[in-house]
Amino acid sequence: MTAEDPAAKPANVPLFGLRPAPSAVRPRDPRPGISGLAPGELEAWMTANGHPAFRARQVLDAAWRGKQTTFAEIHTLPPAIREALDAAFRLDTMAETEILATDGGLTEKALHRLSDGLLIESVLMHYPARDLAGARDAAGARGANRERHTLCISSQAGCAVGCPFCATGELGMERDLETAEILDQVRNAQRRLTADGKRLTNIVFMGMGEPLLNLDRVLASIEALNDPVRFGLGARHITVSTSGVVPGIRRLTALGPQFTLAVSLHAARNPLRDVLVPLNRRWPVEEVVAAAREHAATTGRRVTYEMTMIDGINDTDGDADALAVLLRGDLAHVNLIPMNQVAHTPWTGTPIAVVERFAERVRAAGIAVTIRFNRGTEIGAACGQLAAEHAGQPTPIVVQRRRERIVAQSAAALRGERSDEPAPAGTGEGSG
Ligand code: SF4
Repeated sequence: MTAEDPAAKPANVPLFGLRPAPSAVRPRDPRPGISGLAPGELEAWMTANGHPAFRARQVLDAAWRGKQTTFAEIHTLPPAIREALDAAFRLDTMAETEILATDGGLTEKALHRLSDGLLIESVLMHYPARDLAGARDAAGARGANRERHTLCISSQAGCAVGCPFCATGELGMERDLETAEILDQVRNAQRRLTADGKRLTNIVFMGMGEPLLNLDRVLASIEALNDPVRFGLGARHITVSTSGVVPGIRRLTALGPQFTLAVSLHAARNPLRDVLVPLNRRWPVEEVVAAAREHAATTGRRVTYEMTMIDGINDTDGDADALAVLLRGDLAHVNLIPMNQVAHTPWTGTPIAVVERFAERVRAAGIAVTIRFNRGTEIGAACGQLAAEHAGQPTPIVVQRRRERIVAQSAAALRGERSDEPAPAGTGEGSG
């Protein structure tokens, strides 16, 4: 891998008549982020610019283990090298970060502003040891009575998939994140944890964007996260989520047993999934589950299936039975998560009693099920909610039209009718 040209991949994609993402307010900073450099790249730059190669080690130590966010703060470097580095690279690609804490400090949502003004989000969730017995955290990791710190990170600014229950989907797609922009969400959270003498234990690619549509950079990020010289987190502590990009799942499978695959399923039947996960119009649910099954068989790693539970939409006995049929006998674990309310849908989360009934029907088929709850609902912990709020709410009439459209689409789906709309623009097979 070489340093990326941040301008190499064009932004794309308004879709479905949704409000486009708030456009970048200024050009992107062309200097690559240090964390996105390939191993050896900084040493080569030092040598090529007449500096001792060991200086690279000092910079990378500061980047991965220090609290500095600018080269000027790395006092072990001579001033001339600091200035040369600053002209060529960025030590931190997060131009600004605002933290909002909730759940008594157990959830910290970070709103990051990128160099071109776009906003992305990451969420740091703390799981004290006492909360974990018998439970699973957002990464699906079983509690072993030790505390965990799980970070949910974004892979794109906006998202082209357009799931109607998701605030990021409502924003539309702006652009793929650079590798350093993905990794600097992690470094930002780790700096906050380090101040308390703590360490990230799990990372989940479940924030804004579809990770498998920016797969090259997601894989480069995972390589850096795994690398003991850089972040040094074991692959088993990393989860990559997808809404069902089948070629991307196959590519992950070919890489072998590395990290946990999570599939955002949300419905087991095609007509409803066409509406809830519009990518289903390109890769129907049977194809997605077949690819995930192949991944589990090849890697020996259990696949996690995520179901956002929407009252009266995807939570009926028939939906539970369809899910049981779809996954029966698979190396699979299902997470049921009542939906967070978002402004542009008329939907609400499924009541807990109904979620429990749904879980029991699926468990009766021998499938492991966990009920989870979104953290930080009062700070908009559903992905994209904060960024959407900062982008400005759409007018009431636009919200009303969207709601009417979603109601009409879901009503047709509940009658068993497949969508005749195309798959979302910008969700082709390209992977970054
Ligand atoms: S749920 Fe995920 S895939 Fe769907 S629109 Fe939101 S970010 Fe994109």
